[in-house]
Amino acid sequence: MGSVEQRKPFEKIIIVGAGPAGLLLALLLSQHNIPSLVLESWDRLDERLRATQYGVPATRIFRKAGLLDDFREASITSFPSICWRRVSDHQRLAGIDLSVVRDHPDRMTILPLNEMIKIMYKHCLENGNGLIDIRFNHKVVGTGQDENSAWVDVEAGAEGEVNEKKRFSADYVVGCDGGSSTVRKSLFGREWPGQTFDFRLLVQNVWYDGFEKHGWDGGNYMIDRDYWGLIAKRGKGGLWRVTYGDNLPGLTDDEYLARRDTAFKKLLPGHPDPGQYKITQTDQFRIHNRCVEKMRVGRILLAADAAHVCNPFGGYGCMTAVLDVGGLADCLIGFYEGKADESILDLYADIRREKFLKYVDARSMKNLNRIMNTDPDTALETDPFLRLLKGLEGNAEATRAFLLKYSSIEYDFTQHYKQP
Ligand SMILES: Cc1cc2nc3c(=O)[nH]c(=O)nc-3n(C[C@H](O)[C@H](O)[C@H](O)COP(=O)(O)OP(=O)(O)OC[C@H]3O[C@@H](n4cnc5c(N)ncnc54)[C@H](O)[C@@H]3O)c2cc1C
Repeated sequence: MGSVEQRKPFEKIIIVGAGPAGLLLALLLSQHNIPSLVLESWDRLDERLRATQYGVPATRIFRKAGLLDDFREASITSFPSICWRRVSDHQRLAGIDLSVVRDHPDRMTILPLNEMIKIMYKHCLENGNGLIDIRFNHKVVGTGQDENSAWVDVEAGAEGEVNEKKRFSADYVVGCDGGSSTVRKSLFGREWPGQTFDFRLLVQNVWYDGFEKHGWDGGNYMIDRDYWGLIAKRGKGGLWRVTYGDNLPGLTDDEYLARRDTAFKKLLPGHPDPGQYKITQTDQFRIHNRCVEKMRVGRILLAADAAHVCNPFGGYGCMTAVLDVGGLADCLIGFYEGKADESILDLYADIRREKFLKYVDARSMKNLNRIMNTDPDTALETDPFLRLLKGLEGNAEATRAFLLKYSSIEYDFTQHYKQP
């Protein structure tokens, strides 16, 4: 007599949003035979200029998901250093030498997010064991749940067309639908504790030979109370990303753009005029540091930006998104395979929220304050982080240990699996 397969505790997950969090979660679940339906409101993947660098903890999860080789292949080969500069004279104040981990498999991953999610999408289609159903033009407009299931209400169809209304049900719904999450709003309305900053962030892809000519490389955080930001080499073939904040609140997009040449003249090496550089893409953002009260309500869970957001300085947003869904995948897999009971989902919700509030929120705020609210002339004396980096300069072994250490934002949920 053949063995009767044990009934699984659940059958299917709905994931709202085909951003990095949603696609990565679907991929990780499929590797343990858990099917998912991914609903994306747009007709395509997001192309905006957002994340480009993901720290060591994210790299480890990319490897686990089988994505890392393709990410490395598409990435620039070297990212030698990150430094902090004073804007007034572009003096380098302190930096960290990343070349000491150049060949380490866990080193930071560098790849523009729009390229990264294309690779994730391809992996979902080709390596998802046929278990990932991704539907574009499916905008979630509401959620609901009862004892046995959770569901989403969807408007399907391209923007501007007559929309078809549909309802999809599953055992759990995971909101990976980003900062303006409909899933979050369906649970908490407009309640999302935290702050929204007055400044506008302008992000652009820039071609300018002055970076190399003036010996700039890697990432350059620019410290100044008026002109502050991050200038970093990003793509293959000399593409750079210039991100800066404009402190004036309440202007229109065009008004911010009209002020850009002045900002570029202050920030870029060689103080170029507009004809000397070429800008190929620009996006503007309002920035927030916010976190929900709960990342689980019954059968509905929140992950990544849908639950919490932070300013982008230090590269915490997507890295935390990756750690959230890496952790949630371990919890769902443990439950599915009988190694944990459903309460592990509460652990996910509590621990990932605490990690955000205690470390990510606090550190990203320090990173922002370092570049926009610090006096660059005294920063080396007043900022303990810059002093720490200064102390590491020239000490390859200590730098390596600093860059690769286990981060307090990581958490291994498999430690809560039942002992066999
Ligand atoms: C300028 C900038 C620079 C950044 N740089 C970095 C960096 O270097 N490193 C880093 O780690 N992080 C960085 N971040 C943060 C990072 O981009 C985000 O944290 C990350 O994109 C979050 O991923 P996500 O999948 O949670 O959300 P998103 O990337 O926002 O994806 C959400 C998806 O859900 C879809 N969606 C939304 N609503 C619905 C709905 N109702 N129904 C269906 N689908 C829906 C959206 O269309 C989108 O595709 C940066 C952010 C900005 C703005």
